[in-house]
Amino acid sequence: MASLGNPKNTIEIIQKYEFMFQKKFGQNFLIDTHVLEKIISSAGVSKDDCVLEIGPGIGTMTQYLAENARQVVAVEIDKNLIPILGETLAAYDNVTVINEDILKVDIKEIAEKYNDGRPIKVVANLPYYITTPIIMGLFESGVPIDNITVMVQKEVADRMQEGPGSKDYGALSLAVQYYAEPEIVAIVPPNCFIPRPNVGSAVIRLTRHKEMPVKVNDVEHMFRIIRASFNQRRKTLQNGLNNSPEIPYTKEKILAAIEQMGLPATVRGEALSLEQFAQLSDILGEK
Ligand code: SAM
Repeated sequence: MASLGNPKNTIEIIQKYEFMFQKKFGQNFLIDTHVLEKIISSAGVSKDDCVLEIGPGIGTMTQYLAENARQVVAVEIDKNLIPILGETLAAYDNVTVINEDILKVDIKEIAEKYNDGRPIKVVANLPYYITTPIIMGLFESGVPIDNITVMVQKEVADRMQEGPGSKDYGALSLAVQYYAEPEIVAIVPPNCFIPRPNVGSAVIRLTRHKEMPVKVNDVEHMFRIIRASFNQRRKTLQNGLNNSPEIPYTKEKILAAIEQMGLPATVRGEALSLEQFAQLSDILGEK
């Protein structure tokens, strides 16, 4: 099978199967071999690895993964792509395709079955409509993960990397940075895909922390506070928390906690670091 990284081969296979692109599944297929090679090398895929690929499409990246990894498990929602994958991946005996919604499969079970519960790598050109639930689901489910190397919308990649004070800093930045070290490894223009997306893209690698960067008594409580702090960006931290139905504390208690941290009463959530949110969470959660 000739490489699908070559646009001619991609067009040929799409025409052969009369494949219709589905917008609702975020289908933009990669047609640039340099980008494909960059993703595989950034993920550090080697013959020891079991790789989970989310949304293999017609199998373009899957072929590269199969060449470089020990085992590949590819989860694809669109049943119309399954016969195509049967052809494009026929040469490989180390690929398993699962026709499922990635948000519904038990990824822990996949890691258990195909990698004896050891950390897997996740590689994907993600469907952009569900980037955040996929990434948060992977981290929060407790699946053993080495790194996640994914193509996402450029703006979303920026948000994952930002720190306090930036306009892109928010709940997603804090959630990603709590679990992993983010690094943008490539910027990818729309002409690297068929069809072209109407946004710029970037490849970001999220390397899971071996040890969490902050200690906090109750992680879920901290993330409730983080979400409430960014829900109303223009409001002060005090008002944001007070207005949130998720946060049960009185205005006085919130103000006292902010002052105990040595912060001004007018501080906004976007000024706080992950360490400070952990501290605020522990103070507010004290019985
Ligand atoms: N990996 C291919 C490539 O790079 O050319 C395709 C990438 S395309 C951006 C996203 C893929 O994810 C599509 O094949 C789409 O059908 C699939 N997809 C969308 N939603 C999904 C879901 N919930 N679970 C699994 N796959 C999904």
